[in-house]
Amino acid sequence: MAANNEQKQPQHEKKKQTKPCVGRETFERMNYLYQAAMLMSDKSPHLSAYYGKLTKSIGKKSVLRMEPAIKRTLCVRCGVLLNPGYTANITDYRWKKLCYLQVDCTHCGFSKRFYNSKNHQLWLDNPASVIERFEFD
Ligand SMILES: [Zn+2]
Repeated sequence: MAANNEQKQPQHEKKKQTKPCVGRETFERMNYLYQAAMLMSDKSPHLSAYYGKLTKSIGKKSVLRMEPAIKRTLCVRCGVLLNPGYTANITDYRWKKLCYLQVDCTHCGFSKRFYNSKNHQLWLDNPASVIERFEFD
């Protein structure tokens, strides 16, 4: 009986190690499209907007979330990668207690404000938000 238990344990561990990451191929495709959008942002903003919008729509369709730091670099309206100096103008407003960063998209004209408040913290910056970490070769 003891020998059977020993044989079963390695199989269980092996099964646990080979657990696939949900949506890995989709994440890889989104990563590739994001990099393409980044490369095209200074040369061809139209192509960058197409790739950025495709990245966001793929994430929406497969219900996968982008990290806020990455998501904020894509324009909300047209999807162009907001590259300061090429496709975006960034202004830092500080007046009394009101502080925010305004990002204007030069491709479509959409502007987005990111408010700076001392107590605000993103959920992903909290260590309690990490449930499981995947390591890829
Ligand atoms: Zn835009």
